[in-house]
Amino acid sequence: MEYSLETRCQHLQNDDINEHFGAVSYPIYMSSTFAHKGFGESSGYDYSRLQNPTRDHLERIVAGLEHGTDCIALASGISAIGCVMELFKPGDHVLIDEDLYGGSIRLFREINQKNGVTFSSAALHEEDVENLIKDNTKAIYLETPTNPMMNVTDLRKLSEITKSHGILLIVDNTFMSPYLQNPLDLGADIVIHSGTKFLAGHHDAIAGFIVVKDQTLSGRLRFLFKSTGAGLSPFDSWLIIRGIKTLAVRMDRAEENAHRIADFLMSNHHVTRVLYPGLKDHPGHDIMKEQSRGFGAMITFDVPSKEFAIKVLENLNIILFAESLGGTESLVTYPVTQTHADVPAEILEKNGIHETTLRLSIGIENVDDLIEDLRHAFDEAGKISYS
Ligand code: PLP
Repeated sequence: MEYSLETRCQHLQNDDINEHFGAVSYPIYMSSTFAHKGFGESSGYDYSRLQNPTRDHLERIVAGLEHGTDCIALASGISAIGCVMELFKPGDHVLIDEDLYGGSIRLFREINQKNGVTFSSAALHEEDVENLIKDNTKAIYLETPTNPMMNVTDLRKLSEITKSHGILLIVDNTFMSPYLQNPLDLGADIVIHSGTKFLAGHHDAIAGFIVVKDQTLSGRLRFLFKSTGAGLSPFDSWLIIRGIKTLAVRMDRAEENAHRIADFLMSNHHVTRVLYPGLKDHPGHDIMKEQSRGFGAMITFDVPSKEFAIKVLENLNIILFAESLGGTESLVTYPVTQTHADVPAEILEKNGIHETTLRLSIGIENVDDLIEDLRHAFDEAGKISYS
């Protein structure tokens, strides 16, 4: 019998804690290297850039949660994306969603493109993707829901197209976490996470994950990982192991709060747009009901002017004005100058990211306190005249 997801956040199947003196909290193996008993003999661990027992334990947990056969833990989400991009060579083309985390767009435009990989972008949730695939296209890369516009793509449908063309489908599953969505089950070939977010869950560590099912792909990625060298440290691995223990309860509470806050935003006369797939009239609502186990805790919304947005940021007390997402504390982000600061203005405009756009990551505080915090900030901001 396979353990359920909540149990897999606590225990690895077939793991023998007696090998670690019965330690209930997995030990931190703070060793850069491992001695060999004899010539040609290895404990399975040689050098921590390649493998480390604490990181290995975390990798097996995340592989299990994502229904993969292998997972690699890296020093950040962006290093995970960078490692995956090393699969491609000069002349290869990757089709990307036009709405993505700004740092991913920067990596593709400024680094990978320089190395000869070409990219083109499209609104993958609404385009005829078949027509966008070129002879040299090697992969499609997307987030669903996207950061920050919350666009939802039907992964089953898209994977039929990628499979028929023999190209990779790469999904950044950061916004959902494996608790709410498993892209490998929906036909994706590679899943990426910024482990910094819901997996870590406490705004105290930076991490990234690559998860795959296919053994050949795993071998290739392990080689790239070893060669480029951005492995997650044993201590940070332990922090993420600890964070994952509460993933299920945190996600449930954060999503419950998010539904209430989305309803509040919808009813507030200062708010001009609310993007949350949990709302029944969100265009991606029905797809998410099919492919996910929930709608997550990220909400994007707009207010009447840039000045109003700044006043909201200045007047929130509980909800912290900070980059990042997915922790126990609620955060508000101003995408234009934070997460998407390096994205060219024309792309921001095309994607509908304005100077009036704010993004919320809902935490696990008391929801009435959060709503009161927003109401107070809106009232204060409302004292300025709209321009
Ligand atoms: N993917 C998404 C969707 C993100 O939001 C982020 C960061 O905000 C990243 C990847 C990059 O992750 P990290 O900051 O851990 O490098």
